[in-house]
Amino acid sequence: MQKIIVAIDGYAATGKSSQAKRLAKTLGYTYIDTGAMYRAITFFALQQEPKGTLNLELLVAALDTLQINIKNTDLGQQTFLNQKDISQAIREPDVTSKVSEVARIPEVRAFLVEQQRALGKKKGIVMDGRDIGTVVFPDAECKFFLTATPEVRAKRRHLEQVSSGNQESYEAVLFNIQTRDRMDSSRATAPLKKAADAIELDVSELTIDEVYERLMAHILKKTTTL
Ligand code: C5P
Repeated sequence: MQKIIVAIDGYAATGKSSQAKRLAKTLGYTYIDTGAMYRAITFFALQQEPKGTLNLELLVAALDTLQINIKNTDLGQQTFLNQKDISQAIREPDVTSKVSEVARIPEVRAFLVEQQRALGKKKGIVMDGRDIGTVVFPDAECKFFLTATPEVRAKRRHLEQVSSGNQESYEAVLFNIQTRDRMDSSRATAPLKKAADAIELDVSELTIDEVYERLMAHILKKTTTL
């Protein structure tokens, strides 16, 4: 079967990464979570400054010194910054609360988009993010845009965090999700929006398996008609 590019965009905590990972596994494709790349740069920026502050000018100047690697292992996807495993650290609330500020810098986006395009050059990739179908791979054969109510998303993300030992309250998670969505949707460069040819799916009332089955059905339809 011909290999294609599957682009999954959508709002924060709609389950994009879990779906992308599972689809890639079934298809024998590479899975890339581009959010992890923006988080890696945010982690770096926060390390350069006293707690919680960001110097965006210094960050832009340092971009060329940063090497971000995404590795898919049996443990899941791991993210490395200059050979250091930062997979856990990029999920911490300090990174989550600043990442949209970093992701709106045009130089940061250009730096990462170039790497993302290189990763998809041979196709056979499932990539999730905010601008994959609109900017990174506008010619992707299969594009999805996932949505859900903020409350459903916050509830699911909060449950996930509780089970991994994170102490953030439901209200804090909801606030973060809504703030990120607003910032991601309103930025000047590559805002979060549905590509005209993307299939939109509201996952609020669907189980993880139901979402997976719908996405897979579209992908199979696409690959068999190519
Ligand atoms: O996917 P995740 O929620 O981990 O993404 C973290 C943040 O990275 C998003 O809120 C957004 O600001 C940024 N991002 C982006 N473009 C992408 C992927 C993520 O701007 N393609």
